[in-house]
Amino acid sequence: MPAVLIDDVYKRFGELEVLKGVSLSVEPGQVVALIGRSGSGKSTLLRCINGLEAINAGRIEVAGHVVDQDPKKLRELRKDVGIVFQSYNLFPHLTVGQNIMLSPRITQNVPTAQAESLAREVLAQVGLSEKFDSYPDNLSGGQQQRVAIARSLAMRPKVMLFDEVTSALDPELTGEVLLVMEKLAEAGMTMLLVTHEMAFARNVASTTVFMHQGKIWESGTSKEVFANPQTPELRNFVSAGA
Ligand code: ADP
Ligand code: MG
Repeated sequence: MPAVLIDDVYKRFGELEVLKGVSLSVEPGQVVALIGRSGSGKSTLLRCINGLEAINAGRIEVAGHVVDQDPKKLRELRKDVGIVFQSYNLFPHLTVGQNIMLSPRITQNVPTAQAESLAREVLAQVGLSEKFDSYPDNLSGGQQQRVAIARSLAMRPKVMLFDEVTSALDPELTGEVLLVMEKLAEAGMTMLLVTHEMAFARNVASTTVFMHQGKIWESGTSKEVFANPQTPELRNFVSAGA
């Protein structure tokens, strides 16, 4: 069974049709990069996968859940699907450890002691063990984004979605975040990531999907997609260096 199954999905905002029959299947452990111009529907597709947007037609299944807007089903879905955005949105009045412990405690009733050991474990996974008691404002942007990833991991997701998680960072801070994602990929996490980092897509994602005007315009192994684009749209996109 695929970890993510997207079948002929359509999504409109009013008159604007943003996803026009998108189908995609992601196997457990697979890392898929979504690339394409701004406005092509990449973020909308990710948001539909964890139910942040309701689809107008088609079907999405993630980790055995049919994505449905019923609040109870959404809660179940989101235990298994983590999403990390460009903005990290950590609570400034809580320490790093408290930020990470919040969701497991509130949404999964994990006892405090267990939530703490879980938080320490995921913080180690992103290389920030020593920051458990720090406040977000005292961390660099790259470190804050790594904490945001750790916060998602604390829910023990089966699938992770990343939407341009390095786009707001100074160039010298993107590497540490990409490295964390690369390690997650190596550890077998199923990942879908929207990125402008073409080298990362090529080297870390097994599959790259090029979206254009709300459709999957081209997809294949990352090697093929970058070395041998089949359409003028992808050729232009790749040669423009995104
Ligand atoms: P990408 O992530 O590829 O840049 P998006 O999925 O963010 O593209 O957006 C695709 C299109 O949908 C854009 O034209 C955008 O303006 C529009 N759009 C996205 N979200 C909304 C929304 N909540 N309401 C109206 N239009 C939206
Ligand atoms: Mg986007």
